[in-house]
Amino acid sequence: MTHTPTHHKDERTLVIIKPDGIQRTLIGEIIGRYERIGLKLVGMKLMVPTEDMVSKHYTLDAGWLQAVGEKSIKGFVDKGQTPPSTDPLEIAHSILGRLVKYLTSGPVIAMVWQGAHAVKIVRKITGGTEPLTSDVGTIRGDFVLDSYQMSETDNRSIRNLVHASGSVKEAEDEIEHWFTDEELVDYSIVSDKILYAPDMSDILGKVK
Ligand code: ADP
Repeated sequence: MTHTPTHHKDERTLVIIKPDGIQRTLIGEIIGRYERIGLKLVGMKLMVPTEDMVSKHYTLDAGWLQAVGEKSIKGFVDKGQTPPSTDPLEIAHSILGRLVKYLTSGPVIAMVWQGAHAVKIVRKITGGTEPLTSDVGTIRGDFVLDSYQMSETDNRSIRNLVHASGSVKEAEDEIEHWFTDEELVDYSIVSDKILYAPDMSDILGKVK
């Protein structure tokens, strides 16, 4: 069932720590970055996904193939390099095949994070797709050094440690794909109050 947020603070997004993130022992570092900004972890599991889980995940959005192909071409052209093909769909099908191999190569951690603007905040912390050009200060910019060019040379997926949903709609579909309702927990944490309470006037005074 789709989770319909009633307030900004209820927005949810899906994050997957990919197999390289686990092998690089970055689980705590990655989770810490989402946690320290004020987001709340409402679902988490470790698993080795099936090929079917992964290919369905990337094709939940009918426009993904075209978009990923176009973005890859731009990644080459912007650096004055020649893309492997000028057909976005041809590139995208090759990327999908490599992604299935990458994400089924070992355990991953799927997580659901909740909080105001969760989708955009998580994307900002995660950084752009290509680690070579993703911003310093982001997970992909700080902890890994892959590029479109190197992944093309070695005919493999870009290793960029995490997946993060790209839009609220994508997040809803992806959460439903990876989690059942029972696996997501609705709860409060103390910091919710300082982040979201409209009135902070009860901070001063005696502990009751
Ligand atoms: P993001 O994960 O940043 O939302 P996309 O949805 O465009 O990026 O792509 C999904 C994943 O596919 C990327 O995170 C990356 O691991 C891989 N990928 C994307 N483009 C390429 C490419 N040109 N070559 C190899 N792998 C790619």
